[in-house]
Amino acid sequence: MLFAGVVPEVPVEGNRDLFFYQVPDGMAGEIRIGSRVLVPFGRRTATGYVVRIGGPADLGSLLREMHEVKELAAVLDAPEDPVAIYPYQVELALYIAGAYLAPLRECLKLMLPPLMRGKSRPGVRRRRARSAVLEMVAAAVAQAGDLVPTEEQAAALRLVRKAMDERKASHFLLHGITGSGKTEVYLQAIAHALEQGRQALFLVPEIALTPQTLERVVMRLGSKVAILHSGLTDRERQDEWERIACGDARVVVGSRSALFAPLPDLGLIVLDEEDSSSYKQDRIPRYHAVDVALHLSRLQGCPLILGSATPRVETYYRAHTGGLTLLTLADRPGGRPLPSVDVVDMREELKAGNFSPFSLSLARAVAEVHGRGGQIILFINRRGSSPIVLCRSCGYTSTCEHCSVSLVYHERRDQLACHYCGATARYSGVCPECGSRAIKGIGAGTERIEKELNASFPGISTIRMDRDTVVRRDSYFRMYEQFRSHEADCLIGTQMVAKGLDIAGVELVGIINADTSLRFPDYRAGETTFSLLTQVAGRAGRGDVPGRAILQTYSPTHYAIEKAVTQDYLGFAHEEIRVRKALGFPPYGRLAVCTFSHPIEASAREQVAKVVLGLREVAGKLPGIEVLGPSPAFISRLRAQYQWQCTIRGKEIERIFPHLPFSYGWSIDVDPGM
Ligand code: ADP
Ligand code: ZN
Ligand code: ZN
Repeated sequence: MLFAGVVPEVPVEGNRDLFFYQVPDGMAGEIRIGSRVLVPFGRRTATGYVVRIGGPADLGSLLREMHEVKELAAVLDAPEDPVAIYPYQVELALYIAGAYLAPLRECLKLMLPPLMRGKSRPGVRRRRARSAVLEMVAAAVAQAGDLVPTEEQAAALRLVRKAMDERKASHFLLHGITGSGKTEVYLQAIAHALEQGRQALFLVPEIALTPQTLERVVMRLGSKVAILHSGLTDRERQDEWERIACGDARVVVGSRSALFAPLPDLGLIVLDEEDSSSYKQDRIPRYHAVDVALHLSRLQGCPLILGSATPRVETYYRAHTGGLTLLTLADRPGGRPLPSVDVVDMREELKAGNFSPFSLSLARAVAEVHGRGGQIILFINRRGSSPIVLCRSCGYTSTCEHCSVSLVYHERRDQLACHYCGATARYSGVCPECGSRAIKGIGAGTERIEKELNASFPGISTIRMDRDTVVRRDSYFRMYEQFRSHEADCLIGTQMVAKGLDIAGVELVGIINADTSLRFPDYRAGETTFSLLTQVAGRAGRGDVPGRAILQTYSPTHYAIEKAVTQDYLGFAHEEIRVRKALGFPPYGRLAVCTFSHPIEASAREQVAKVVLGLREVAGKLPGIEVLGPSPAFISRLRAQYQWQCTIRGKEIERIFPHLPFSYGWSIDVDPGM
C-alpha cells in the first residue's frame, strides 16, 4: 500500500497543511515527489502538491494521526513532463517551513511560476525564442572577454573552481573592499559552471540590479542569462521563468526570490552583498536568503560564494570558526585608492550658529566640486521634508491616528503622511492644540535637502531618488541613466543611492546625517550603520579623480561611526563581536520574536503575558534558552492594532519552536533583521 502526503493549494484552517491519501494501484507508477494532484478535500476536491510518498512503514507516525485516509483522485502532470515542482524544491520548501515556522503551502507557492501563484492553472512549459527583458539590456552591449585576474582574484578562483569540479557543497566568504573586483570573480566562476554544462544562480540585492550590473553580466555571458526582479511585470517574470524551465537560460540573475527558480542542475550559487537587509523577506514566509542559499547548496551539491565589503559579523565569525572559507581581496585593481572620509561633528556646527543641514565643510566641498564640473551624491536616510512637526508654543507633535509614529511633512504635496500605514492629513500651519502659528517641521528629509541645495547653489541640477519619486517600474533605471550621463550634477536620495552605483563622475559623497539608523532599537543598528556608511562613501572616487566623502554626525565617538570613517572593517567587526557576546546576540545566540496584535491594548499585553508564562515553564527545562518580555513592539501601535511581543533568545531556540503560539493574531519572526 502506497500513501502520498499532499499539501492542498486551498487555504486550510489551523496550522496544519499536510494531508495523507492512499494512492490507487493504477497511479503508483505516475506519482512523483512534486507532482500536482487532485484530492478529495472536505466535500470538494482540491489541487495540491505531493511532498511525501511512502508505505505505512516509512510514514508510520504521520499516518497514525489520520482518522480516515481517502484515495487520491488524479495525477495532473503528464508522465513525460517534468514534475510541477522539482523534488529539490520540495525539500527546500520543507526546510523553510520548519526553519521559519511558516505554512508549507506558502513555502511551496514560492516555487511556482509567477503566473501560477494564487491561481490554479496548470503550468505550461513551452519553448520561447526570445526574452524582452534581455533585449532591453542587451541592446547596446557586445560580448566581452574576461579580464586577467589579479593574484588575489586568481587565488580565490582556484579554490572555487576546485570545489565546483569536485561537486562539493563548499561555502566561501569573498570579503573584498568596494571596487576590489568581486564581480569579476563571480563572473569567471559562473563561466566555469557553464563550461561544466551546469547552471548558475547570481543573487544580488534588488537595489543593485542596475542596468549597469545587468549589462555587465549579459556582456560576459550573453543570451544564456535570465533576469528575475520585482521591477518586471508578472508576464515578463513568467517569460523569464519559462526560459529557465525549458533550459534556454542557464544563468539566473535576480533578487532573493530567484532562489526558487527551477534550476535542478546548479553548478554554483553566488550571493553578493550578503549583509543587505533585502535578503530577509518581511512577509510570510519570513526566510533569510543566505540561510536558504546555504541549504540549497547542500541539496544540490554545489559551492556557494557569499560576497561583501562589509559582511554581517556572524558571517565573518563563521569564516573564522569553520564552516566558511575566507577569500580576501584587500586592494583595488590598478591601485586606485579608497575615498578619503572626513567627519563633521554637527553639535559644533550648532554651537557655531549654523542651523543649516549642510556643515560649512560640506557646503564648501559642494561648491568646489560643482565649480569644476564634478558630480555629487547626497545621502539622507529619510524621505519627505521634515520627519517631525513640532509646535514651539505648546510642544504638540503631529502623530498618526492609527500608529504610534510621528507624521512626516511633505512640502511639495503640502501634506503630513504616515510612512507606516500611508494615512495622510492636511497641513494647516496652525497648531491643532493651541492655535499657535509657531508650528514647524524639524529635521530634514530628501525633499528639504533638495530645496535647500537649490536655494544655496543656484544653477545646480538635481535628481531626487526616494520612494516618492521612484514610483513607476522604470523610474529607477531612468534616473540612474540620467545621472550617469551627467544630466544632473547632484543625486539626492535615501538607501537607494547607497549601493551598486558605479559612476565615474562622482567626486563627492555627502552623508547628511549618519545617525539615523543608529537609533533603531535593533541589535543590528551598529552593523547596519557601519555598512551603509562604508558603502555610500565607496560611491565616490571610481573615476580618475580621487574621491572624497563627508560624514555629518551627532555621535562622532560611536564605534560604528568611528570605524566607518577609517573604513576599518576588521576593527568594527572586532568591537561588534565583543558587544554581541556580552548580550548573547548572533553569532552567540539566536532570536525569535513573537508579536501579538489586538485593537485593545490591555488584551494585547495580557495575551502575551499569558504566553510568556507558558514559554518560561518550557524554557526552564531547556538550558540556555531565555524568554524576554512581554514588551510593547518598537512601533507599539500599527494600523490601529496594539502590538506586544516576547523574544526567545538562546543557542538552540528551535527546541522551543513546537511550543510557540500559532493562533490568530500572532506573527513569528525567526532570526529577525532590520
Ligand atoms: P566589486 O564587485 O568588488 O565592487 P568590481 O568587480 O566591480 O568590484 O571591479 C571594480 C572595477 O575594477 C571594475 O571597473 C572592474 O572592471 C575592474 N577590475 C576588476 N578586476 C580587474 C582586473 N583583474 N584587472 C583590471 N581591472 C579589473
Ligand atoms: Zn501648540
Ligand atoms: Zn499610520
